[in-house]
Amino acid sequence: MRLALTRALAHPSGMDSTCSHGGDAPISEARLRASLLRAEEVATKEGEKWTPNRARVYELLLRAGGPVKAYDLMPAYSADKATKPPTVYRALEFLEGLGLAHRIPSLSAFMACNDGGPTHAASFLICTCCGSAEEITPDLAPIISRAGLRRGFEPHGATLEIRGLCQNCRD
Ligand SMILES: [Zn+2]
Ligand SMILES: [Zn+2]
Repeated sequence: MRLALTRALAHPSGMDSTCSHGGDAPISEARLRASLLRAEEVATKEGEKWTPNRARVYELLLRAGGPVKAYDLMPAYSADKATKPPTVYRALEFLEGLGLAHRIPSLSAFMACNDGGPTHAASFLICTCCGSAEEITPDLAPIISRAGLRRGFEPHGATLEIRGLCQNCRD
């Protein structure tokens, strides 16, 4: 099933929407199935229900292969359902809570997490030309936690955004 969800939809405003540099290859069906299975395991381990809505939204994030705004998920989500924006938003919050997706604040976008592990501080390389984003390790959570706790602050999450040009746009 091909979805009409392209990288163009994920273009953050203010970035060059005419960028014609090559994007990433779409996720393979095998990887998609593996990621969905792993996500279900993560949810089940946390005692949460892996509902069709949650699976559907996670699948759309995986297929987008980059940052995508919740609003832009609606048309693809509703291709076979009535549009229910709150359902999509709730699913995104759920995925974020499990560390299966991250919110990228400056883009007002969400992106599937590429490791699906427990909640972690996410670091992103964000291309200012094509709007792509790539999550990178290291996980800075321990460093951020220590820095906060030293000041009596209990951190609940962090997202590091590193701006620049991706490999495709540099070439
Ligand atoms: Zn992540
Ligand atoms: Zn780029």
